[in-house]
Amino acid sequence: MTRRVRIVVVLACVVVSGGVLRHFDQHPIDLTRFAPADASVAPHEPPRGIAGGALLVVSPEVVARASGADASFAWLDILENEYGATRWIRADELSRDAGAVTLAVVSRSAASDIDARALDRLATRALVIVIDVDGSDAARPAHAGSAPIIAVDDLANRVARRRQGLLGSRQTIDKRLGRYPQVREPEDLLESPDSLDREFPDADRLVADLAARIDTLVAIPRLAMHPAGFAGTFLMTHDEDEQGGASTLSLLRREAEWGGRSTVFLVPSGRLWESWSDAEIAEARRLGADLELHWNRFAMPAGVWKVEPYKTVYRLSTQRETLRRRGLEATMNRTHYLHLGSDLSEFFRTLDAAGIEVDATFGPNRAGRGHLFGTARPFHPIDRTGLPSPVMEVPFQTQEDWGGVDEAFLARLFRQSADVDH
Ligand SMILES: [Zn+2]
Repeated sequence: MTRRVRIVVVLACVVVSGGVLRHFDQHPIDLTRFAPADASVAPHEPPRGIAGGALLVVSPEVVARASGADASFAWLDILENEYGATRWIRADELSRDAGAVTLAVVSRSAASDIDARALDRLATRALVIVIDVDGSDAARPAHAGSAPIIAVDDLANRVARRRQGLLGSRQTIDKRLGRYPQVREPEDLLESPDSLDREFPDADRLVADLAARIDTLVAIPRLAMHPAGFAGTFLMTHDEDEQGGASTLSLLRREAEWGGRSTVFLVPSGRLWESWSDAEIAEARRLGADLELHWNRFAMPAGVWKVEPYKTVYRLSTQRETLRRRGLEATMNRTHYLHLGSDLSEFFRTLDAAGIEVDATFGPNRAGRGHLFGTARPFHPIDRTGLPSPVMEVPFQTQEDWGGVDEAFLARLFRQSADVDH
């Protein structure tokens, strides 16, 4: 082969391979079926908590994960949100447990394990006792020793059911009210179209009513919910959705002028190196923004540099690693398209396995507005085992003006939240 022919052959190969690469860059091969599955970890026993505040008593069976239908552990964040430090013990440890508590809650799972004598002993240590029971409480004494007893009707289960929505018969998320056909979204956890428009946080009201009843009996210090002088707290978060550093910064600068700071959830695509410079990341941080993870459960283009001949779904841990390589240690997530997958327990187990501590995926997608899950307060979802996930869910109330959100709706939500609901 002469030198000239060799050059022609090499050039032809370059042209052909360039054409092939360009073709696949525009029509990437979907390799998702070869993608490794996400790791997942079932919750362990939650930490016992700090002595000196409220005390929750749960049944040993719940701790042994034998009672997935019982949400006794939902009491933990109900109490922590309202009264601060909360500790929990098993009902069979009650006789050995000592020390004063402000408020003792006997969960529904433990209510049948505890007799009148145990209640009397508890009353010598607590200012007030709350018993969570199923149905009528006619058989319960109104007092144990000096401490008043308040009976509530299946409160933790009712609150947990509202906060976590409706699961299918096999604990699955079935397609219901969400509008994206390929996505199991939070709206698919709602029971009826009425639940799509919720100004009234009914789960929070159940708790607020109990706290008001306790207040009429004894004075228990309450946790200040907002900074002194403020009637509320407003959490603002943005999904970056691959808009890149320049456009995100224009938003953050506007917010900084108003004195606000926000969280931005970044899609960790392979193009992050291109769409966000180091200087832009530094500038976002200087403006007070918290850059976190926008978990993308759909296939993303992949390859080398600007040539991306295939696409695949990346594991959550890999997506977190992509951010880490840019100096972003994400511990918070909102999932792209609010895509929960078909198994709610698995969703939170996957977040936990990847090191995510706070999630903000629960909220309206296209159709809904307001307190879809009955609460504006953070909570730890109850796993199918009955144990609480270590991941804290922070629900949100609206995105953009979808679901018919306008200024008047938001004004009502703010006013009611400050004056009545919380
Ligand atoms: Zn998104």
